[in-house]
Amino acid sequence: MPMRNVKNYLEDLVKEIAREEIEKDPEMCKCETCFLDVVAYSLNRLEPMYAATDMGHAVTGVKLSLPQMRAKVLAVVLEAIKKVKENPRH
Ligand SMILES: [Zn+2]
Repeated sequence: MPMRNVKNYLEDLVKEIAREEIEKDPEMCKCETCFLDVVAYSLNRLEPMYAATDMGHAVTGVKLSLPQMRAKVLAVVLEAIKKVKENPRH
């Protein structure tokens, strides 16, 4: 199995939600450093969802579309935004 097929699906979802939430927050810095901090913090708090097989990709795709999953990721992303706002690294 070539490595390029291994994918952490959570990363895409976290990035998508982080972009939306940062955009919505007028107090949040919009720079790339803060965005990546939010993403890194969130990914560290969530269990990775790697998939390497066709079956794995399909199952993971379905799991990520569940509202519970999005709600969980959103909660962690909001927490991450709060932390980064309190403690910007730049
Ligand atoms: Zn910033």
